[in-house]
Order: sequence, then structure tokens, then C-alpha cells
Amino acid sequence: MTDFRQEAEIIFDELVHYRRDFHRYPELGFQETRTAGIVAESLSSMGLKVQAGIGKTGVIGLLEGLRDGPTVLLRFDMDALPVEEENEVDYASQTIGLMHACGHDGHMAVGLGVARVLAGYRNQIAGKVKFLFQPAEEGLGGALAVMADRALENPKPDVAMALHLWNNIPIGQIRVTTGPTMAASSIFTLTVKGKGGHGAAPHKSVDPILAAAHIVAALQSIVSRNVDPLQSVVVTVGQISAGTTFNVIPEEAELKGTVRSYNNELHRLAYRRLLEMAQNMAAAFRCSATMETVAIVPTVVNASEPAAAVREAATAIVGEENVIAGQTMEAEDMGFILEEVPGCYFFVGSANDEIGLNYPHHHPRFDFDERAMIYGVATMAQATAHYVLNGN
Ligand SMILES: [Zn+2]
Ligand SMILES: [Zn+2]
Repeated sequence: MTDFRQEAEIIFDELVHYRRDFHRYPELGFQETRTAGIVAESLSSMGLKVQAGIGKTGVIGLLEGLRDGPTVLLRFDMDALPVEEENEVDYASQTIGLMHACGHDGHMAVGLGVARVLAGYRNQIAGKVKFLFQPAEEGLGGALAVMADRALENPKPDVAMALHLWNNIPIGQIRVTTGPTMAASSIFTLTVKGKGGHGAAPHKSVDPILAAAHIVAALQSIVSRNVDPLQSVVVTVGQISAGTTFNVIPEEAELKGTVRSYNNELHRLAYRRLLEMAQNMAAAFRCSATMETVAIVPTVVNASEPAAAVREAATAIVGEENVIAGQTMEAEDMGFILEEVPGCYFFVGSANDEIGLNYPHHHPRFDFDERAMIYGVATMAQATAHYVLNGN
């Protein structure tokens, strides 16, 4: 039987090389042109059939076996975040204001690693492995863009898998859950309109900043007072912008935030209360409020058979005692792909408290234990082998 953990260990230096290179040169969603170039060139050097420009900057690499069999889709995300890196490492971001703060640099390295390992088995593969490097996962609609570009056709995948390196769990553990595993997410923008004026004559203006501040505080009662305490909903305001200087009351204030849940009905309830509160609270301060929803991602739901295949693979790689289950309120646009193709999204522990690699995702000091990539490559290769490599 093939030892995929050993095979992944052997290419560890290559994984680190890829990951650090992507880390040095982060690119935002739909702008991953340098990144896509490296991905395409690497896949093609491994003998895969490559298509670039999928959903603008995505890349597909197709590994075709000699015999017929199922098509397995492996999806990896490519984009960085508008975060200024605070890590002092020699592979730190070279681009001011941008950083791979979610670990997608590691995901791409894992993807190229799985391609490297499985390409060595081409002669034994019955079926196809379709590597999809997807742009713009961070709330920008990359999954929908690649789907609109027919990424799920020709060949149509029978099963789909994706992973996230995960600093909420220690290195050496893998989290696989049957059913819902990541939350539905939407983004709201509230615009509060007032009337601008001189900061020293507030009585002649209508201050949208004051109204916005009350709205932010009031929104936090939605979860505590409107949602069943046995259910989970998150309402977060992550961005407030208003004003240009200290002594001018601006015309308007803008609040951006997100709602997360595992339940459509609760999601709608949160939105209804968001709008009611924003409008009524704004009116109390003689302002007006409007709301726009700019993106919605469905719940990430794992189908039972692929989840069992991944759990079995993870057990072979890290041992049964290190395979856990659980849910998270983070969201992922893999949810769209899993609505079309049965599959499994799983988490590879990447935190190492002993060496300080435990900052949360999206933090300016986020970094992960690179050895987690070994477990990622090995588990994904092993789970893929379950479908396309007979005798494994
Ligand atoms: Zn992220
Ligand atoms: Zn991410």
C-alpha cells in the first residue's frame, strides 16, 4: 500500500518553497496573475493539461489516468487579504498592505504537492483528477466566477474536496464533519444619511456618526434578544467609515458587516431585525438608513460518503485519536460548489503554540506550522486515491 505521508514528507522542501514564494508576493482576489502563472507553469511541468483564465484568474489542471473512472475535483483558493503583515520573517509579504493572512498560500502549495504526488501514479489511475485553483475566495465571489466559466463541466466531477489549514486546531489533528461544517454568510452595507455641517455648530446639522454609533450597539441585541439561545447566529460590524476631518460633521456614515448562521430562517430573521433597527434608530436621530446585501455564501455541507472517505484517509495519516469533528461560524464559497457536487471540506490543524504559530486567521501576525502541509497533501492524496487508484 502506498504511504502518502512518506511521499508528502519527501516533497516537504518543495511545499515550503512554493508556499513562501506565494507568501512573499500576495495578490488580491481576481488579481492573482503572478500566482496563476506559477500555478499553471508548475502543473504543466508535471504533465497536467492546463487551462488558465478560469473565472478571470483561476487555473485548472487535469490529470488523466489511462483507464476510465470517476472525476475527482480538488479545489484550492488563491487570494490574499488587504492586511499589512507584521511578521518579521524572511518570507514576509513584499507588497505593502497585502498579506496571505488566511493561509491560501499554503493551500496552493498543498495543491501543487498533491498534483506532484499523484502525477507519479498516472499509469495506475482509473479516472481523472481535476485540480481547480480558484481566485477570490475572500467574499468576492470567486467560486461563482469559476462555475460561470464551466469549471464544473467537461469533465463533470463526481466528487469534490477542499481543505483549509486551520490555526484553531493544533498541528497533527484533522477535522472532518459529516453534514454542515461551515456557516452561511452574507455581507451587509448600511448607509446612514444625515446632514453635514460645522463640528462646532452641531445643532445646525444632523449627525450620522452619532446615529451609526447607536446602530452598532443596538445590532448586538439581535443575537442576544431575537435568536433562540440554542441556535447559533453571528452579527458583526467589521468596518465603519465616515468623515474627512475632526471639525466637520459628515453627510453620511457607512457600516459594513456580516451575518453568519447555519439556518436560512434565522439568517432572514437577522436581516429583518438589522433593517428594522437601522431604520428606526436612524430615524430617532433624524437620519435615514438604507441597507444593501452584497454577497451571500451558502452553508458548506459535506456529503456522507465523501466525508467518510476523507475521515478514513485522515485516520490513515494522523491516527484515529487525531481525527476530530466540529463546526465553525467562518464561511467559505466552497459551499456553492458543494451544492452542485457531493464532496467534503475538511480542516488541517496548523497551529503550534510552542513556537508561537497560533495567531488567528486574518490577523497581521498570522502564520502556520508549515509541516501541516504534509498532512494536507497526504490526506488529500489518500482520499483521492480512494476514488481513482485501485488497490489503495
Ligand atoms: Zn479567510
Ligand atoms: Zn481562507
